[in-house]
Parts: sequence; structure tokens; C-alpha cells
Amino acid sequence: DRTTCWLLGDQLNPDLDVLDRADDVLLIEAHGFADRKRYHAHKLTLVFSAMRHFRDDLRERGHDVTYVRAESFGEGLDEFFAERTTGENDGDGDDGGGPRLRLMRPASHGAGERLRELVAERGGTLELVDNELFWTTPADWREWAGDDDGDDDEPLLGDDGAAERTYRQEHWYRHVRRETGVLMDGDEPVGGEWNYDDLNQETPPDDWTPPGRPTFEPDELTRETHAWVRDRFDTWGNDALDGFRWPVTRGEAREALDRFVRDGLPAFGRYEDAMVGGEPFLSHSLLSPAINLGLLDPREPVRAVERAYEERGVEPGAYDPDDHGEAGGATTSLDEFGGGGTAVEDGAAEADEPAPVPLNAAEGFVRQVVGWREFMRHVYREAMPELADANQLDQERELPPAYWDGETDMRCLSEAVGHVREFGYAHHIERLMVLSNFALVYGVDPADVNEWFHLGFVDAYHWVTTPNVVAMGSFGTDVLSSKPYASSGNYVNRMSDHCADCRYAVSRTTGEGACPFNALYWDFLKENEETLRGTGRMGLMYSHVDKKGDEEWAAIRERADRVRELAEDGSL
Ligand code: FAD
Repeated sequence: DRTTCWLLGDQLNPDLDVLDRADDVLLIEAHGFADRKRYHAHKLTLVFSAMRHFRDDLRERGHDVTYVRAESFGEGLDEFFAERTTGENDGDGDDGGGPRLRLMRPASHGAGERLRELVAERGGTLELVDNELFWTTPADWREWAGDDDGDDDEPLLGDDGAAERTYRQEHWYRHVRRETGVLMDGDEPVGGEWNYDDLNQETPPDDWTPPGRPTFEPDELTRETHAWVRDRFDTWGNDALDGFRWPVTRGEAREALDRFVRDGLPAFGRYEDAMVGGEPFLSHSLLSPAINLGLLDPREPVRAVERAYEERGVEPGAYDPDDHGEAGGATTSLDEFGGGGTAVEDGAAEADEPAPVPLNAAEGFVRQVVGWREFMRHVYREAMPELADANQLDQERELPPAYWDGETDMRCLSEAVGHVREFGYAHHIERLMVLSNFALVYGVDPADVNEWFHLGFVDAYHWVTTPNVVAMGSFGTDVLSSKPYASSGNYVNRMSDHCADCRYAVSRTTGEGACPFNALYWDFLKENEETLRGTGRMGLMYSHVDKKGDEEWAAIRERADRVRELAEDGSL
């Protein structure tokens, strides 16, 4: 019997087993979702261009591809079914059961069941199979978590967002390292430690030049897609194609990976948490858009980094990118990665030999992918649907307008929002310690923050923003951390060069001109004392709270109120 492999827009990988086992392929480009909300123009361009390139790639590889453009999946299926049933009820005796489709289980909560119903309503059948584009399976997770009864009926989160049980990424990460053998030396982690984070908290010196973003010049199909996006949708952020340099094909994604492993990886660990004015990318891999679309299988970057460590590895911390000696400045000529010659260099110098890869860089990267990424996916599966609305601190404010227009004198916030507006991207620390930290201490409803991330980032999908934003960034639930990622301006000052040039004084908490983060932070701790005082590792913070007298609290409250007023008004 003929079986069609239906692939979604975030399953764009030509090497999937599920493709081998199918007779033909269905791709539905559904547009309705982008009519309802204002997405970043680059996000829409990226997803639709990648789908269209993937269609062409599959056809070149000999697949029979039906590509439908429609308002919704329902309408797309109508079109596919109309074509298929006319084509198939042709007297060959195989017209009884309606089309048979097979789909890798979508990452989004409940989507598999919804799509199965849509297909059934039209007289077809949809078989859901494991999603190959994650390294670990739900069964792997259950085995680790010890939920052997497989009982998914009990909600993990209560109405107040508090979790029935909690999960810790570090434990999961070690388990996956052991199971996959990544960076393992028998039963022991390579180098003897699981985690080298203490080496990964430095900021670069002023004269350090980041390796340069590998950029992919939009081709005709991307340009056409972008023009259509601009014409068709009401979008947010930079809608010119200027800054759009994301990989849109598997070939480009692999090239981006090669470039990162060669140039970005050596300093990845050391400067992983740093923020530098005017430098949105630093040594980050910029691979999340490609991985989340399926253009890269998450095993690929991990194995590539592991190989690079085998070939170029040095002791933790043994390579210093500030040392402009022989091995430093590890950037490269693109000719060596050539391919179609589509990539162009973004202002990086050349060097012959790639720099060494210190273990803290390789381990740090591996942890992001097999630790955090896989972990978040499973926490999402387990904690939905309650996770989407979890709000244990009862935060209710709306996002201040600065998140939309970037207009604020707070340098850290205007830089981070500026990166999102310009590129649909901000790196991890900007996301966590500026964008979501500010929303947290300011008091924004986690679901609103989640939507903002979802609309604005090129790598955002519900399964990945929701645990990151609602649980990790907004502390809507304690399912994955026992304390909120809340901090005063001190953290930003320590990890960036923003504060020196900021209109606000990071050294002051109260009065006009004091850093808004400071009063909001203390006010947040005071406001949420009942929930936070007893939790996890908050003891030290509350010992500081306890030392403040009434007068100080009154000044803090006054400044926090004033900051909220200015922010609401768009004049912070
Ligand atoms: P790198 O710093 O180079 O990291 C390497 C890879 O690790 C990433 O490409 C990504 O695949 C993976 N990774 C690292 N941390 C996480 C994580 N916490 N969850 C999932 N994957 C991770 N990631 C998204 O892919 N989409 C999002 O919409 C998203 N929203 C976020 C919102 C908030 C508030 C926070 C705190 C984190 C969010 N993340 C999201 C996770 C992380 O910030 C991004 O994956 C990362 O910044 C992407 O840039 P990069 O590829 O240069 O990452």
C-alpha cells in the first residue's frame, strides 16, 4: 500500500529513515498562523524559504513531492486529498481506505493528535512515529526519570505552577553522556569532570575580535520568498533582507557547522556568558535556527565538536583566545569550505591553522545540546499543557513598549532588543539575564513573555520557548530550577561592557538615575518573599533582604514604582 511521508516545516532533513520507508512526500506550507500575529520578517522568510529549498532538494534526490500552499493544514489536506483521491480511485481496486500518511511526532504539544484527527475527518489515516530529529526518545526519558508506569494522566504542574516533581538538567546531562558515550573515557567523563563552567565566565578584552558570523547570501528563491513575506504579512522587526544571512539549506547548515567548529569553538566556552556592545554573536554557534528546522540533526554538531576535540583538544583553559600568539585569531578563508561559494566572510581575519579546542569549550557546547536542548524538550512534553500558563508568582504586567521598539536608555536592554529586532537573534545570556530577567523582576505575565520570544526569534518554536521562557526565565514553575534567574544590575556589569556607557548608574539602587535593574530586583524579592524565601538556594539573597531597614525599603519601593511608570510610558 502506498504511504505518504508528511514532513512539517521543522522536519526538513533529507536523510531521515522515515523518508526511506515512504512512497512519496507531502509538505504543506500553511500561512494562517502568521496572519494572526506579527512575526519577525526574517523568521517567516527563514521557515518558508527553507521549506521551498527542501522541496527542491528532495525532488533532485528523486522523491515524488507534493507541495501545497494553504491557509491551514486542514485546507492543505483538502487539496492533497482531492488530488490523491482523484488520482487513486482509478479502478485499481485500492480506493477503499483513503490516503495513508506517516508523520514524525510533532514537537508541539497535542499537534500529533490534532493532525491525526484532521486526516481522519477526511477519510485518511495518519500514523505517528518517533521524531528522529531529537537524540533521545520519550522512552529514554522515562527510563531515566523512573516513570515506568508511563502514566501521563496526572498533571505534573498544579494550578499554582508548583511541580509535583522536579527535574535537574545536570543529572539528565550526565545520564545522556553515559548513554551516548559523548566525551566519555569508559565510565568517566573525559578530563575527569562533568562540567567546566567555572572556566566559562570570562569577558573578552577590548581588542578581541570575534570570529565573524558565517553568512549565506540570499539566493533567488530566498529573495522571492522574502518579497512575498513582506507583501503578504504584517511583520515585526527588520524587514529588509540586509541582515538575513541564515543557512536555508542542509548544505549551508553543514557549512555553518564547519565554520563554527573551526573558528568559533575555541573561544566558545570562555566567552559563552559574555555580552559586548555592538557584538551580537561573539563565539556562539548560531546553529539553533538550522537545528530547529531539522536542517541539522543534533547529533551532527555534537559529534563534530567531539571530533574537533579529539584532533585539536587541549586541557581545560589551556587555550587563551586573548593571547594573540601563533594559535590565536582562529579565523579562516572561506575557500576551504567553499561548496557553492555562497558564503561570504563578515569581517574576520585569516589564519592558517585552526586554534586548539580546550576541553571547557567542547564540554560546554556538548552540554548545551545533549543537556539543555534535549532536556527542555522532555520537560515540555511532561509539563504541558499546564506549563504554557504556569505563573506561580502571579505576575500580571504587560511587557513594556521597549521590548517592541527598543527605545530605552538602559543600554543592556536596548542592545538585546536591538539584536532581536535586527536579526531575530540574541545569544543565551542576553535572552536569560537581560530580556527575561528584566521581564521577571518587572513583573510580566510569563505567557506574554513567551509570546514575545515566539514571535521575535528565528529559532523559536513552542516546544523550546515555553520551557526556556516560562520555566527557566520567568520562574512560572519550579519544575526545572529551584530558584529564579533573577539578578540586579551587578550581573550585567560583571559580564558585559554595557554599564560603563549607560545613562543609569549600576552602583546605585535608589533615586533618579539608578540602574532600573537594582530597585526592581530587591522589590521583586520582597514582593515574592512568601514563595521564594524557603526555596532552593535563596538563603543568601534573603539574608541581604533582612539587613535592609524600613527607610531603605521605602526608597526601593519608590524607585521601583518610578521605573515601572517610566517603562510603561516608554520613557525608561
Ligand atoms: P549556542 O550558544 O551556540 O549553543 C549551542 C546550541 O545549544 C544551540 O544552537 C541550541 O541548539 C542548544 N541550546 C543551548 N541552550 C539551550 C536551551 N536552553 N534550550 C534549547 N536548546 C539550547 N533556544 C531555541 O532554540 N529557540 C528559542 O526560541 C529559545 N528561546 C530561549 C528563551 C530564553 C528566555 C532562554 C533563556 C533561552 C532560549 N533558548 C532558545 C535557548 C538558547 O538561548 C538558544 O538555543 C541559543 O541562544 C541559540 O543560539 P546559538 O545557536 O548561537 O547557541
